[in-house]
Amino acid sequence: MNPYEYKKLLDRAWEKLPDKLKSHSRFEIPKADSFVEGNQTIIRNFNEIANILGRDPKHLLTYLSKELAAFATVDGRRVIINRVLRREMINRRIEAYAKEYVICHECGRPDTKFTELAGEKIVKCEACGGWWPLRKIK
Ligand SMILES: [Zn+2]
Repeated sequence: MNPYEYKKLLDRAWEKLPDKLKSHSRFEIPKADSFVEGNQTIIRNFNEIANILGRDPKHLLTYLSKELAAFATVDGRRVIINRVLRREMINRRIEAYAKEYVICHECGRPDTKFTELAGEKIVKCEACGGWWPLRKIK
């Protein structure tokens, strides 16, 4: 399956979730508090975002850097991206990250973790037991 088809499949899985699960979910995808300085964009609450998502900031940073096609460095709790970016662009990527790596593809809850199954890296849901392959960041 090519990445595009895979993404479409994920989107469809997300849309198929009962609305009840989506709207009553206590989980809200965090948003970036960012600003532009010169030709860089600074995300002030980067660590907080990673914490809320329950993911290693390094993993999230690698993802954002690839997706935004820009070099990114950690600066304390902040992240500096070497590109001018509107907040909306960053938030869209954070949302995509949460849907791929955090929110369960089966039950829609965020109670997931990275683990292994028969030597394969997977994302596993602790709420419903569902799992899916951990997609490599390319
Ligand atoms: Zn689940």
